[in-house]
Amino acid sequence: MTLDPYKTLGVEKNASPDSIKKAYRNLARKYHPDVNPNDKSAEEKFKELSMAYDILSDPNKKAEYDNLGREAFFERGFNGAGYKPNFDSHSFSFDDIFADFFANDKFNSSSKTGRKNSSFSFGTADGGPFGNFGGFTKKATKGGDRELKLTLSFREAVNGTELTLELDMPEICSNCQGQGMISNGRGVRNCPECRGRGSVVSRQTIKAKVPAGIKDGQKIRLRGKGFPGENGGQPGDLNLIVQVSPDPVFVREGDVDLKLEKSLSLYDALLGGKIEVPTLSGPATLKIPAGTQNGSKFRLKGKGVNSGKKTGDLYVAVKVLLPTSISEEAKELLSQLKELAPVHIDN
Ligand SMILES: [Zn+2]
Repeated sequence: MTLDPYKTLGVEKNASPDSIKKAYRNLARKYHPDVNPNDKSAEEKFKELSMAYDILSDPNKKAEYDNLGREAFFERGFNGAGYKPNFDSHSFSFDDIFADFFANDKFNSSSKTGRKNSSFSFGTADGGPFGNFGGFTKKATKGGDRELKLTLSFREAVNGTELTLELDMPEICSNCQGQGMISNGRGVRNCPECRGRGSVVSRQTIKAKVPAGIKDGQKIRLRGKGFPGENGGQPGDLNLIVQVSPDPVFVREGDVDLKLEKSLSLYDALLGGKIEVPTLSGPATLKIPAGTQNGSKFRLKGKGVNSGKKTGDLYVAVKVLLPTSISEEAKELLSQLKELAPVHIDN
């Protein structure tokens, strides 16, 4: 099932967490199965609402959805693990929705204990010198990797560039150190900054260096720019998947070579001549020897991509063009030429 969570909840892309919550609350109240017994369509609607809210109320999922778009989000799945709604319309009651909207899921989750210790676990199976005393030590978990598509122009890919990206970055909530809860004099309660989720999303400016000669499909890995780790674990990486827009003239060949096709008149092919060909650094002159066949390739050394480590060549394939209208006089001359310069055909 794929849906547009914004449409489902009737909120704008830039809606605040509060207005998302309010929209969900209003709609959930209306469509909850308890209010609409035996109403299949209300039940379906309620499931959709819950799924939409599940995505938009989680900063990580929301950022992933916003970045990937609907198709890719549901197809590839949140955080690469496959998007599965983790609820069922009957698993929480009507009262649950309104009693404590943001239930203490951090406390109920089996992977979280009440202990707020973010030290690494050196636990060994036999409970050796660095064993898990009391089984409370939480395991430091590396954050998940994030993937984003990045479209580069042909020239940017060939020459390399430095990009400045504005991205919604999930990060550990500093108010609660990612625990999702804070304690005050009266006990433990959900962190108001992150609403108990342990992470917040902030707009960040990230610089990405694109090496010269990068190719379509290659990845740029930005270490530590993925999802935050848990319990002191390292953050994951951000992988930029490069898509290179095609160029109207040049085609990449191998790592650093380029190729292009250039038309040539029959007469230049027969008699030889000079033609102008484009290169990355501007037009160059290519000498065509007499008797050049259609499809012949010429190499312009060093006129390919310069990746810093390697410099490629430019291959020019010529396409011989014939005159499109031939006068009676020209026909006469061509017949004479046919006698004088016969073409040998082997096959
Ligand atoms: Zn927090």
